Amino acid sequence: MTSYLIRNAQILGGPAQDISIVDGVIREIGTDLAAEADVDIDAHGLIVLPGLVDLHTHLREPGREDAETVLTGTQAAAKGGYTAVHAMANTFPVADTAGVVEQVWRLGQESGYCDVQPVGAVTVGLEGKKLAELGAMHDSAANVRVFSDDGKCVDDAVIMRRALEYVKAFDGVVAQHAQEPRLTEGAQMNEGRVSGELGLGGWPAVAEEAIIARDVLLAAHVGSRLHVCHVSTAGSVEIIRWAKDKGWDVTAEVTPHHLLLTDELVRSYDPVYKVNPPLRTAADVHALRTALADGTIDAVATDHAPHPAEDKDCEWAAAAMGMVGLETALSVVQQAMVETGLLNWEGVADRMSHRPARIGRLAGHGRPVSVGEPANLVLFDPAYRGSVNPESFATRSRNTPYRGLDLPGRVHATFLRGVPTVLAGELVEPGAPA
Ligand SMILES: [Zn+2]
Repeated sequence: MTSYLIRNAQILGGPAQDISIVDGVIREIGTDLAAEADVDIDAHGLIVLPGLVDLHTHLREPGREDAETVLTGTQAAAKGGYTAVHAMANTFPVADTAGVVEQVWRLGQESGYCDVQPVGAVTVGLEGKKLAELGAMHDSAANVRVFSDDGKCVDDAVIMRRALEYVKAFDGVVAQHAQEPRLTEGAQMNEGRVSGELGLGGWPAVAEEAIIARDVLLAAHVGSRLHVCHVSTAGSVEIIRWAKDKGWDVTAEVTPHHLLLTDELVRSYDPVYKVNPPLRTAADVHALRTALADGTIDAVATDHAPHPAEDKDCEWAAAAMGMVGLETALSVVQQAMVETGLLNWEGVADRMSHRPARIGRLAGHGRPVSVGEPANLVLFDPAYRGSVNPESFATRSRNTPYRGLDLPGRVHATFLRGVPTVLAGELVEPGAPA
């Protein structure tokens, strides 16, 4: 294996040090290392973070390869600094059997750009009626530990209870897309002043908060683990804070876009801002940032949701919901959390690597940047300034809300077990000579 010497890198934003990588593992860390290496990388001014872990990625394969494939999605992940992603189950066919999750897992292995951990559906066909084969998916080669009907809410309380009880047997977790279906029928955007003015169907905060309140109580009742997907309202934060204060095993994630954007953008009627859950108010954004900073919200998860142009370039009401996010997540977090003084780089590593890896029980990811650890690393240039150009993305889709926007920072390199997947900002074919 090619060995690497990364010179003058600021580990988690600390003082400059050298890192030597041999046989996929961090061999040595220190100043002025004399180690011999096949490749020297000048990392002056770059920050080293542990490889990022995404709990919430839509890779679209099988079934919607026009939007994304496991290959293009993992390439986008690598360019964003990710070394592991959780692939959501709302594919065609749905990932509700051992066969489908193993297929996605194998495609991830073949891609080589990023580890792919399939998420299993909670219910057959995401229909919310009958539990899927949770045990068989766990026992499969994909070793599924996170289950979610994401895109849809497990709204039947008895099914949700059974799922929580079932996954306890193997330390699994149910990741809930909290959306009360009746309260959000025909909903097009956040319910509030802007929806009233625009005359678009409103999506009330209570539709999210009511499900989260019910689920934290259910999780406590059966003594199981609950993870709340894409928290988007100040009220949801309060419920999660209350559940954590009780000592219940509840974790939560927030997307980059909910940390930066508000429903005021919907005034443009540009469907690029149409997303589920919807963009909320400035007060919600403030509460989400505060909660991520104090740890009430555990993780940033992208909810990377690629859509082909024909599903987004249409009138608002007909457009698909979702945004791509893998290649901009770290920059958005730098802008929303680091440059506002709410998180330091150690905090970013915790919320984007350590904690999501722990929630997904992913061995080998989210580890400290220390000698003897697998070299899953990102070299990030926080001083870079430039505008977002979707044409340079590796994802197959272009539905980013940040087109043309100035965002700070850029991923310089990503290492997956000591093998670069990105160098100097460009993808490296896995196994290609360095
Ligand atoms: Zn969702």
